Amino acid sequence: MSYKIGIDLGGTKTSVAVIDASGQIVFSQRASTPSHNYAEILRTIGSLVETAMAAGDFGRLDKIGVGIPGALESDGTTVKNANTQILIGKSLKTDLEDQLGKQVHIANDATCFVASEAADGAGKGFASVFGVIMGTGVGGGIAVNGSPIMGENRIAGEWGHNPFPFYGAPPLERDCYCGKKDCIELVLSGPAISRDYLELTGKSLTVDAIVTQAEAGDLAAERVLSQLSTNLAKGLSTVINLLDPAVIVLGGGLSNIDRLYAEVPDRWGQYVFNASAKPAAITTKLVRNRWGDDSGVRGAAWLT
Ligand SMILES: [Zn+2]
Repeated sequence: MSYKIGIDLGGTKTSVAVIDASGQIVFSQRASTPSHNYAEILRTIGSLVETAMAAGDFGRLDKIGVGIPGALESDGTTVKNANTQILIGKSLKTDLEDQLGKQVHIANDATCFVASEAADGAGKGFASVFGVIMGTGVGGGIAVNGSPIMGENRIAGEWGHNPFPFYGAPPLERDCYCGKKDCIELVLSGPAISRDYLELTGKSLTVDAIVTQAEAGDLAAERVLSQLSTNLAKGLSTVINLLDPAVIVLGGGLSNIDRLYAEVPDRWGQYVFNASAKPAAITTKLVRNRWGDDSGVRGAAWLT
């Protein structure tokens, strides 16, 4: 039996997994991401890999895949575009290779996610898949005929830093860490939903708590979540115009919000390019991921 090993370096959690040739996870472990300390991030990855290597007879595992909330510069080692901003400008690939003694393959976490879901997850069998991670930040990835597309600048699918469309006037002019204003990430991420609820009520709640509050009849929570559905419909309509994917797979913490799967496709028809005497329904499917938090780490392992 041959095995592969992957790391998913997330904004809040870092995971390691060993998968067998059929894609089954045979070992996994998770730790908090020390997101403000680069040396600690390296140490966390090192100790997860050490634990995984000691957990079974997996062979040498000379290569490791690492999914990151960002991408590599054209030099192939330095990180750019990372929501975990401490990573930006760091030589993550060479630092990890020195530390782990393995060949390190780094890919964007949303690319890893879409690779996993397109291969044997919720996007399996579809010719074109757009994968979205809506969590601490917003990332996107594209797979065609089961294979992810990296892109010329390694940013294929990075829809989270397009300007949010159909804002209505005036634009809010919120600053994003990427240097632009009013990015989609500032509207559709977990922190954005908590901020919207805080602005309405003065109360700080997690997204999960806002969902619970809405179910209990809290009108402000209901308003924030309904607006999220409308905003996601607006955002994804631009993806449909550009890629017209067969299926869009949602991942990340916000993918656990059940109502999105009915409300968003109901609403995106208003925003998709569809000027017709008899407008046909938009048949793109919106589905929840199959592999949950494991998708990123599975995809990372597979990409080695
Ligand atoms: Zn941005």
